[in-house]
Amino acid sequence: MKSMMVFCLSFLTLQAYEYHLKPVELAKDVYCFFGAPENISKENGGNMVNTCFVKTKEGFVVIDSGPTFGYAQQAYTQMQEIAKLPVKFVINTHDHDDHWLGNSFYKSKGALLMGPKTYEQNVIPGMTTRMAKSVGKEIYAGTEVVKLDRVVDQYYDFTIGGTAFAIKQLVDKAHTKGDLIVYLPQKKVLFVGDLVFNDRLSSLRDGSIIGSLKALDLIDSMHAEVIVGGHGYATDSNATQVFKRYLIEMKKQILEALSDDVGIDEITKRVVMPEYKHMKLYDVLHRRNVFDAYSELEMYSEDEE
Ligand SMILES: [Zn+2]
Repeated sequence: MKSMMVFCLSFLTLQAYEYHLKPVELAKDVYCFFGAPENISKENGGNMVNTCFVKTKEGFVVIDSGPTFGYAQQAYTQMQEIAKLPVKFVINTHDHDDHWLGNSFYKSKGALLMGPKTYEQNVIPGMTTRMAKSVGKEIYAGTEVVKLDRVVDQYYDFTIGGTAFAIKQLVDKAHTKGDLIVYLPQKKVLFVGDLVFNDRLSSLRDGSIIGSLKALDLIDSMHAEVIVGGHGYATDSNATQVFKRYLIEMKKQILEALSDDVGIDEITKRVVMPEYKHMKLYDVLHRRNVFDAYSELEMYSEDEE
């Protein structure tokens, strides 16, 4: 009986969390793994984020490395099924931890890590992450916080294995104060990180409603054929539209409320936007978004634009 228990325990500790990652090919040699449009939980292991990879003649370029070491390891196994090539670069779109905690895995494989200034400022080796607290020790096992090899300030272009990459920060503050987009001009594919959400609501907590709307206009003006956001399944050229409409409507209603002298204590009751209630995470995020947008718009005048 005792040996049976020891066997069961060691079997359990050997069983890594299984993410069941399946790459979806969105354009030739461009693949993404789509996470569930929900909050981080033990059940999803932090797999509520989209990560992508591009195959070039010399190796892979990964855009966002995902929520844990184990996730990145399993993503890498899937890549190797497509081609036995090294991962050359990992580009981190922003400093929210569901997007970059796979970095330590790719670093161990010799990849060069790139990301925005805010990553350099806010991501400190040894720090306790939101992910670690949410998914628990087993799922998080092996995950380490590592520094970037190259900080991208404003823009950086490079070509590898015949494929051109253009990295750019569109505005000073949108989803965060450091959101990078990655554009593949030959393929008209655009990775926009959390500047675009689909199938669930986004959070304005670290960002700006005005900046987000500006970034969304700039994304649309690029006329990409594929637009991949950080969360949600829509990736066509209209992928920005739901989030854009949500923000435009929120801005309009808050500005009206401000001109009616509605105070901050009343604003979440006034700007309910019931047509978005069906969206995932509405209950968790909408009131806070209204609150944050109100604080920003209170100080804002259209003339500043
Ligand atoms: Zn984010």
